[in-house]
Amino acid sequence: MSMHIAVIGSGIAGVTFAEEIRKLERHNYVTLLTRETGGYYSRPLLSHGFSRGDIETKIVLKSFAALVANDIAVERGAEVLRVDRQSKTLHFRKDGKDTPLSYDKVVLATGSDALIPPPFRAQASLFHVLNSLDDLVKLRRHRERILARHPRPRWAVIGGGLIGCEISADLAKTGDEVVLFHALPRLMERQLLEEDSHKLLGVLCDSLGIEVLLDQAVQGFSGEGMDLSVRLSDETVQGFHGIIVACGFRPRIELAIEAGLETRRGIVVNEFLTSTTDHDIYAIGDSAELPDGKLYAYVTPVRSQGLWLAKHLLGQDDQPWQVPSFKPKAKVPGFEAEKGYLF
Ligand SMILES: Cc1cc2nc3c(=O)[nH]c(=O)nc-3n(C[C@H](O)[C@H](O)[C@H](O)COP(=O)(O)OP(=O)(O)OC[C@H]3O[C@@H](n4cnc5c(N)ncnc54)[C@H](O)[C@@H]3O)c2cc1C
Repeated sequence: MSMHIAVIGSGIAGVTFAEEIRKLERHNYVTLLTRETGGYYSRPLLSHGFSRGDIETKIVLKSFAALVANDIAVERGAEVLRVDRQSKTLHFRKDGKDTPLSYDKVVLATGSDALIPPPFRAQASLFHVLNSLDDLVKLRRHRERILARHPRPRWAVIGGGLIGCEISADLAKTGDEVVLFHALPRLMERQLLEEDSHKLLGVLCDSLGIEVLLDQAVQGFSGEGMDLSVRLSDETVQGFHGIIVACGFRPRIELAIEAGLETRRGIVVNEFLTSTTDHDIYAIGDSAELPDGKLYAYVTPVRSQGLWLAKHLLGQDDQPWQVPSFKPKAKVPGFEAEKGYLF
């Protein structure tokens, strides 16, 4: 008997899973539900969003029409509101209308939002994030408005992790002035050993002309429009046309919480990527928390989870998902870690 598999999310996790199911067989029904409307796009390419003029089109890897042609039903512009485990029904809102959809299996591939530290939350109108294609479009528009009035945009980037370093490098490559604020004494401390953090600092400052302020815990922002300031504990740095907060990611677990599934930082799954609460629900990608307490929020492991789960669900792999080898590399021109990467 065929089953209906509902996949929530059209990032690399959801799309890889759905396409792999279709590659393996055509018997079961697959529905991909997503709030996106513009197709499946490459999130890593967002980090090149300023230096590449054609990015808004080049970033789209696959249209939703191509998925439909591959026999995957797609509900685009659809916000999944609730998973009712008793009746095995999803509820989603599309074009202002609420629709139920029954399922046999659900794959939660809901990804992650940008993490906004609590002191910044009330000041959302003063900063941007770069987590999705919509964010990139907004940022690029903002940059165009700046350029209409100032020859050289000046940005504050908050956070010297992987994404903050990449965004800073890309803006600098484009010719903009960048001040990068990092709360800790060295850059990318979660992925790099100390020596490589220093090397990265050298590349950002000396080759790309970025001003890097380490050990600076940002307290908040002030100003309006294109006249913005960053408040530190003992001084205020003024004169920014734009502020970008890049302080990490927050898994989207709201649907899982509402459905009564076990969650911690992410949706808790066992070694078979199956919810520890409900064996008809799976989680993959940035939103899944593995038994080792880790979230494997990088392309290589996320893609591997999608491929593995498709096989597992069809009964073609009964061994637990294995973490593939991967490097959490920063896409900063001129930088290569010498001591390797941590995870
Ligand atoms: C700027 C940036 C640069 C990066 N660079 C790299 C890199 O160089 N290398 C690397 O390995 N990783 C990189 N990453 C991380 C990598 O992109 C992520 O690990 C990966 O994209 C996660 O994929 P995902 O499918 O789990 O989640 P996402 O891509 O977040 O997709 C989740 C999808 O779910 C949808 N969704 C969520 N909730 C609902 C709902 N209730 N209803 C409907 N739809 C919903 C969202 O709209 C979205 O389409 C980068 C990330 C960013 C933000």
